Amino acid sequence: MKRLPNIWFLAFVLISMTLVCVHGGLSQVPSVTQTNSSVKQFPEVPLPKEQSKKYNLLHYVLYAVSIPWSLTGLVIIINSPINRKVVEVVRKHLKRPAIQTSVYVAIYTLWTTIWSMPIGLTSYFIERSYGFAVHSPLLWLSDRFIGYLFELTAIPAVIFGYWLLKRSPKHWWAWLWAASIPWQLLSIVLWPVFVAPRYNTFIPLKNAELKQKLLVEANAAGLINPDVYQVDISRRTTKLNAYVSGIGPSRRIVIWDTMLKSMSDDEIMAIMGHELGHAVIGHLWWRLAAGILGAGIILFGLSKLLPYVFARFGKRFGYNGVLDLAGFPLVMLILFCVMIIQQPVECAISRYQEHQADEFGLKLTGKKIATATAFLKFVDKDFADTDPPTWIVFMTYSHPPIRERIQFAKDFLPVACCKGE
Ligand SMILES: [Zn+2]
Repeated sequence: MKRLPNIWFLAFVLISMTLVCVHGGLSQVPSVTQTNSSVKQFPEVPLPKEQSKKYNLLHYVLYAVSIPWSLTGLVIIINSPINRKVVEVVRKHLKRPAIQTSVYVAIYTLWTTIWSMPIGLTSYFIERSYGFAVHSPLLWLSDRFIGYLFELTAIPAVIFGYWLLKRSPKHWWAWLWAASIPWQLLSIVLWPVFVAPRYNTFIPLKNAELKQKLLVEANAAGLINPDVYQVDISRRTTKLNAYVSGIGPSRRIVIWDTMLKSMSDDEIMAIMGHELGHAVIGHLWWRLAAGILGAGIILFGLSKLLPYVFARFGKRFGYNGVLDLAGFPLVMLILFCVMIIQQPVECAISRYQEHQADEFGLKLTGKKIATATAFLKFVDKDFADTDPPTWIVFMTYSHPPIRERIQFAKDFLPVACCKGE
């Protein structure tokens, strides 16, 4: 599921598109026990295991807690005299405003990272206790640290944002929006090449027979000879996933090694049909367009909200207007609230696209049964919830619930142009 904590101001503009290209892939895709692709009868969705019900409930509770938890962290820092003190110290010892902003934002981000630790750690230990997370607490911590460093890449945007706010109080949002567009595009291109390899090792798919099948499938879909990688995700988790990421020269098919071990070739091809759907339909471009539009709406909204909120509450916290660096956490609080509102919209768009990709995969491969058995493996091995609560789907589901996807595969009528299973 998508993560919400640590959403802060221009991090959205700079980093969120990084997330856009982190295709959630099949992390929520359905799955089963009966995985033998030789089974010719369409499988039924089993009743959920007690263990699975508890696991999902824990995550739902954790999600429900994470929102007020994040808000509390922001409220604490807004009310804390330490926040003001940090700004004063930074101003006293550093001359250039850009350096002052950099150091302050790095400290602020450290605070939000530390504050989010209990939620992150709880999630990690839930995953560990159910046998999904296999990496050590040390590696988990190291991942958090790398994540912190990546978050710091938003600092130039914050500096630029404050500079624009000072120079053009009315139109700063439009300039910042314009500047964010090439960065968003760049993020999609660079993520698979520079960010993903910081966490795992990607190597060309070793299984030559499967690789050949996938290349034939990709070529049939119109994606000519893409790079096909496997990634050593089993260092961290036993969960299953595959995705297509990047644009242009950085575009690649990636299969988690856990999936290679757990699924038949037919099932992997069925899943890949879905992933190829994203690439061929151009979902990354649509997501980029939605990201640009969304950033514009959010920045415009902030341009209206910030003066109002700072005029109304700024003096209570001792801020000297929107440009006061000490007011940065308040800006983040406003942004956090805006992001909570936009999340269901983003999820709804994503669910629509995932459905399109399912349809594409079924048309391409005609593998209805393999699609269903692959989805059922996500149920069996990843404890994907077959019947999640409506509010969880509304707020967090980037994919349609598994039962719906399996039903769609069952009802799907192969079209004349596609291969039958
Ligand atoms: Zn997908």
